[in-house]
Amino acid sequence: MTESLKLIAGNWKMNGVGESLEEAAALRVALDAEAANCRVALCPPATLIDRMAQTLGGSAIEIGGQDCHGAASGAYTGSVSAEMVADAGANLVILGHSERRAGFGETDANVAAKAEAALAAGLEPIICVGETLAQREAGEAVSVVSQQVMGSLPVSLADKPFAVAYEPVWAIGTGLTPTLEQIEEVHAAVRAAMIARLGAGGAKPVILYGGSVKPSNAKEILAVPEVGGALVGGASLKAEDFLGIIRAV
Ligand code: PEP
Repeated sequence: MTESLKLIAGNWKMNGVGESLEEAAALRVALDAEAANCRVALCPPATLIDRMAQTLGGSAIEIGGQDCHGAASGAYTGSVSAEMVADAGANLVILGHSERRAGFGETDANVAAKAEAALAAGLEPIICVGETLAQREAGEAVSVVSQQVMGSLPVSLADKPFAVAYEPVWAIGTGLTPTLEQIEEVHAAVRAAMIARLGAGGAKPVILYGGSVKPSNAKEILAVPEVGGALVGGASLKAEDFLGIIRAV
């Protein structure tokens, strides 16, 4: 089986206005000059997808949304559908980020519905899972994450492009990271759950690690078995930092 290309995806979260596109433009200039050894994506706030698509048009850098609604259209004030995300210029979408699970009450079933909607719109979902600190300390990391994979991945993903991101909640934005052994253990469990859920269709999609990835720790994390890339928050906001991670692949 040929190995999938690693994916380094930047999650800008609710950061960035028009002038932030200068960072996307700087990333483009750098990656036009030195081709990346992996897939690279930026996931800006929904309001910037369209302008980012113009800034990056013709480059190899892909664009993702940070969420979409599970319904195709309707009376959902403030929400954005998968088709809208795709129409604005994205080809990927982050779903089930822990900030949405915790802050907006998203359940595994919601995430699975969003993944179905994303597929229908031609978007490649990046489905996030991860345990809280209390769950890690209770020895429940593997079981919690495995259950999230089983519940958040619709069976229709089986032959479609998608990725799973393992993001321990306690590692996001904290500067803390699990040990390499802990990352390996959970990634192996995520792979097993993907195969249990999707059969052979769960064997190939990449599993990203996310949580305080930075240029100084990217190389060792990306070398862990089953780590197929990174979902990067804070260190994706500056082109120079993000490039440091891309160069670590
Ligand atoms: C994230 O929000 O997906 C994330 C991994 O954030 P950070 O890299 O800042 O920890």
